[in-house]
Amino acid sequence: MTVALHPSIDNGIKQGSGSFAGGTLACKCKDHQVKVAVKGDVAHNHACGCTKCWKPQGANFSVVAVVPRQNVTVLENGDKLQVVDPSAVIQRHACKACGTHMYGRIENKDHPFYGLDFIHPELFQEQGSAAPQFAAFVSSVIESGVKPEQMGGIRARFKELGLEPYDCLSPALMDAIATHVAKAKAA
Ligand SMILES: [Zn+2]
Ligand SMILES: [Zn+2]
Repeated sequence: MTVALHPSIDNGIKQGSGSFAGGTLACKCKDHQVKVAVKGDVAHNHACGCTKCWKPQGANFSVVAVVPRQNVTVLENGDKLQVVDPSAVIQRHACKACGTHMYGRIENKDHPFYGLDFIHPELFQEQGSAAPQFAAFVSSVIESGVKPEQMGGIRARFKELGLEPYDCLSPALMDAIATHVAKAKAA
């Protein structure tokens, strides 16, 4: 039996169309869904094992990507949104009724990722957004109850799917963070 990672990747990675113009994210409620419009395609899409990201039922990982914050607009039932943890760096706006995280926003202007919102592309009602490229914070799933002895199988499965597993972010994103820190120090 293969290890279940996330329903949107367990049967193989579905590549994006390369021309995704944006779409609408919908929460899991049966009625009065929270709907959020996203302009343009997503970037840095990846599987994430951290304990803060929203995961659908039964998933060990989330699938999360970023978009420019100005491209994100709440369309419907925004009164159902609340921030999961106001003290967290990423303010995750979730539906109060079904718990789905609709977008995560960074309000600290000094943060390396300020200006980007975190969204879950599986909530798009449309197909074709950019596919996941890697897996981040893989070891962190142990904090959510995965046994350490399962980790070999999990990392092997990610590699089989073509997603390189990392225990922090990808080298490109770690470099971006370090560059931001270096520039801040030099200023
Ligand atoms: Zn909902
Ligand atoms: Zn995460």
